[in-house]
Amino acid sequence: MQRITILGATGSIGVSTLDVLARHPDKYKVYALTAHSRVDELAAQCEQFRPARAVVGTAAAADQLSALLRAKGLRTEVEFGEAALCAVAASADTDTVMAAIVGAAGLAPTLAAARAGKKILLANKEALVMSGQLFMDAVHESRATLLPIDSEHNAIFQSLPQSYARSPKGAGVAKILLTASGGPFLARAVETLDAVTPEQACKHPNWVMGRKISVDSATMMNKGLEVIEAHWLFGAPASQIEVVIHPQSVIHSMVSYVDGSVIAELGHPDMRTPIAHALAFPERIESGVGQLDLTAIGTLQFEKPDYKRFPCLALAFEALEAGGTAPALLNAANEVAVQAFLEHRIGFRDIDRVIARVMHENDHGAASSIEAVMAQDARARGAAEAIVAGTRQ
Ligand code: NAD
Ligand code: MG
Repeated sequence: MQRITILGATGSIGVSTLDVLARHPDKYKVYALTAHSRVDELAAQCEQFRPARAVVGTAAAADQLSALLRAKGLRTEVEFGEAALCAVAASADTDTVMAAIVGAAGLAPTLAAARAGKKILLANKEALVMSGQLFMDAVHESRATLLPIDSEHNAIFQSLPQSYARSPKGAGVAKILLTASGGPFLARAVETLDAVTPEQACKHPNWVMGRKISVDSATMMNKGLEVIEAHWLFGAPASQIEVVIHPQSVIHSMVSYVDGSVIAELGHPDMRTPIAHALAFPERIESGVGQLDLTAIGTLQFEKPDYKRFPCLALAFEALEAGGTAPALLNAANEVAVQAFLEHRIGFRDIDRVIARVMHENDHGAASSIEAVMAQDARARGAAEAIVAGTRQ
């Protein structure tokens, strides 16, 4: 029995993970579930999966959850706050941690799981973007197992040899081809992008996801974060990572080898496939996702990304090249700008303007410690909030 902690159980990835787990009660047992504020949903999940522990964001939410669980006659222990998140991620009573909190809030518990040598199923790409080298060092020092959940990185992982040892050198890899759908605004006239609404931005053509990553997909910052994620996961320099727009999202990414071979993973755009893959690795389990019928799809298209349409993608490459805490700066400015856009405080094209200004007006030093990264994160958030406050929609 694998004992699982799900950080961010009420989110899109959390719910898909529970969907897969429910299909295999003989193989997996839920140890802990966490959510920020959606207490009713977490209570329903606790009733179905009977975890030993549940964690929420605040004392008030914990009281609310405790009352709901008591009324159902459940004995799940209820805690709140970051220290409790870290404790359920690092507990000796859990084997596997699904890291599915969105944004920088996921860094501390994901890192706690890494330091405790857990099997980590990584959806929370922001944690890796912020702390790349430090996070990978923690994984290697404690012999944790890191398996990518992001569909592209899971596809790349599946397309690399199992003996792959942290670098494209020696494995005959020429390039990692990271596919991108292009999001909802791939074909929209660039001059009209300023006028798009959060609702339009969150309407992804292929994937159903949380609101933050949906906006990131519309700006293509999501692909930018994924370039940085691929750099750390697979030890590839920026020059060996190429973004290819593929609007159908059937090919989830590819690896191109020096002999001309290209290996890809294909499937329906449904996160239960990479989740099931990582849960069962190196075995395979049923995920609830149907078989792919290529004849029903008919055509697969590819094109180069346009950096004028998607300046966030260029900013992410710039942050990766700059190194140090530059990716943490990029990530924090993006989180603030996306939230401001979702709250109608700035327009869609202000997102890249805010990030560019934060990146170009602030120094980025070495990412020498997690404390240094978190300090940079806080500085960048302050700078981004000030720019947002001065931006009229
Ligand atoms: P979501 O918004 O649907 O869910 C986020 C989860 O995090 C919720 O359970 C929420 O309670 C929790 N959370 C939010 N803020 C928190 C905080 N401050 N402290 C503690 N918990 C907090 O997001 P999602 O779409 O499931 O994405 C989760 C992560 O997975 C993101 O990093 C995203 O980039 C990544 N990801 C998602 C998908 C997808 O298909 N949804 C695909 C690839 C990668
Ligand atoms: Mg992805």
